[in-house]
Amino acid sequence: MAEQNPLLARWTSAHGLPSFGEVKVEHFRPAFDAALVAHRAEIDAIAGSKAAPDFANTIEALERSGRQLNNVSNLFWVLAGADTSDAIEEVERDVSPLLARHFNALYLNAPLFERIHDLYRRRDSLKLTAEQRRVLERYHTQFTRAGAGLDQAAQDRLAAISERLASLGTAFGQNVLADEKSWAMVLEEDDLAGLPDFARAAALAAAQERGQKGKYAITLSRSSVETFLQFSARRDLREKAFTAWIARGENGGASDNRGVVAEIVALRGERAKLLGYDNFADYKLADQMAKTPANARKLLDNVWGRARARAERERDELQKLIAQEGGNFALAPWDWRYYAEKLRKARYDLDEAELKPYLTLDNMIAAAFETARRLFGLSFKAIDIALYHADARAWEVKDAAGNDVGLFIGDYFARTSKHSGAWMTSLRDQEKLAGNIRPIILNVCNFSKPPPGEPALLSFDDARTLFHEFGHALHGLLSDVTYPLLSGTSVANDFVELPSQLYEHWLETPEILKTYAKHYKTGTPMPQALLDKVLATRTFNQGFATVEYTACAIVDLDLHARPKADSLDVDQFEKHELAKLHMPPEIAMRHRIPHFGHLFAGGGYAAGYYSYMWSEVLDADAFEAFEETGDHFDPATAKRLKDYVYAAGNLRDPAEAYTKFRGRLPSVEPLLKKRGLTEAA
Ligand SMILES: [Zn+2]
Repeated sequence: MAEQNPLLARWTSAHGLPSFGEVKVEHFRPAFDAALVAHRAEIDAIAGSKAAPDFANTIEALERSGRQLNNVSNLFWVLAGADTSDAIEEVERDVSPLLARHFNALYLNAPLFERIHDLYRRRDSLKLTAEQRRVLERYHTQFTRAGAGLDQAAQDRLAAISERLASLGTAFGQNVLADEKSWAMVLEEDDLAGLPDFARAAALAAAQERGQKGKYAITLSRSSVETFLQFSARRDLREKAFTAWIARGENGGASDNRGVVAEIVALRGERAKLLGYDNFADYKLADQMAKTPANARKLLDNVWGRARARAERERDELQKLIAQEGGNFALAPWDWRYYAEKLRKARYDLDEAELKPYLTLDNMIAAAFETARRLFGLSFKAIDIALYHADARAWEVKDAAGNDVGLFIGDYFARTSKHSGAWMTSLRDQEKLAGNIRPIILNVCNFSKPPPGEPALLSFDDARTLFHEFGHALHGLLSDVTYPLLSGTSVANDFVELPSQLYEHWLETPEILKTYAKHYKTGTPMPQALLDKVLATRTFNQGFATVEYTACAIVDLDLHARPKADSLDVDQFEKHELAKLHMPPEIAMRHRIPHFGHLFAGGGYAAGYYSYMWSEVLDADAFEAFEETGDHFDPATAKRLKDYVYAAGNLRDPAEAYTKFRGRLPSVEPLLKKRGLTEAA
């Protein structure tokens, strides 16, 4: 079978990549089946061992198990996210519950847990290294949180819940994608008033991809619709696009997500109760840096009042601008970005369209690489290698001594086969248990693809996204641990955005912008005046940005902290929450519940959306550590950052890791300053 199925063969091509050319979708199901059987046999052997448990025959054996399943899964999830198809979606629907069942059985394997628990009780006398002790404690926590200590009936119910949640998560993501795919606003030349050249070119390409050659299409991908809302002078069309955008997942029919959400929330609540917690948020945060929903909520509440007050001042300014232009209407949500852009232009004379020619994709990639060179001594060499899609590119990464660090793959352009958003993922994670295994890390983005022969130009937000995802990539690439469980980004959710959000700061340093923001036609650097304006606009419209985010974070925590998790009416809950918050009616949540993929498609951020802001407290405070030295690339600070954050995986409790880097826990002041929210509410 292994000979016929390239997924089960050893991946022997260069860099340990699979042979993409030979992999067919129909290989996945049999490969998953075989890999699951193999992993189960490994687990049974560990659990059924007659030998007394020790670290090597139990924990290390677990760490060595399931490698084939890992390979097949990693590749599958890369494709399911970045280059999917009806056939892949079908496999996804089939294997999601199988995988859930498999890992449930693993975590609920009583003889296996007995061995882990026995080791855990004796951990002080086992003569473990600090890393081994951490691995053992993490296994014990994971098994306990999965219900390993519960009776059979409770465990059976937990298993059923997990399987159902896996299917619901898949359905949720596919429903959003279906709504995004099925909607496009096809426009004629006459409808493009206000759109700059890059937006016209992107709309032309999007129409062509949909078989409407010579016309222009606005789609529901964030970069398409947000650009349109920012620039289009056609209020009627802005309303149409905005209305479709925020209605994703609640259009009735087969792709409506409201029922899916209600069931997910009910099942999560039930699971938390079975595990001895009052609600899902309590359960979730117990294993995070925040530890309790009250701690997370304290931070959000601290920011909310200031953000809303600031957003209201911003709204008044936009309303004034409308009046000055002779408009006789109240600012609506589909107007905000458009008038904010006008005000930005008026106040800072900054035109996004004037900025874009200085932000080519290739230069921004080079800028991200140069930052990594100056901070961590890394170098990047482009290599020509067959990948899963022609738009994906690869680089070999080496350290200052010329040692192999890993492989980095960047897949930057939007296409209909790609889920929306931007993310980092991996085909292989770093570890040293099976030899010096170096990682294969991907960044997947949705930047608008330029017409053939023209360079890809980014907005400043796009460039920031590129740096953000590259920060995650470095967290994977620089990882330096022995055990796979602790590798790279496998840290608490409210800590995992520190390396990515922190990295965004370097994009805004003059050292990097001056060198890499160059006009794509003339090669001239971005003029100092324009650069100053870019930096001066950093706090512009931050009331809006903070409100649209923080509302989501609060709604998420409240949604998952309801004492009665069942009987959720999604519409009514969202309305009620926003009313309670006195949400400015001119601002919509950044992600409304029916398309809030962070919470429901996979669910990694459920009761955890607050973590972006939690991490922002960390990243603002961490960047201050560099500013305090007067050098954005201070070597001693960079070394501590690498040792305790980027290379450290999950070696330590996050609060301890941060304290080792910074010498103390973070303060919230740098965040408020960064967002311009230091004025009292
Ligand atoms: Zn991120």
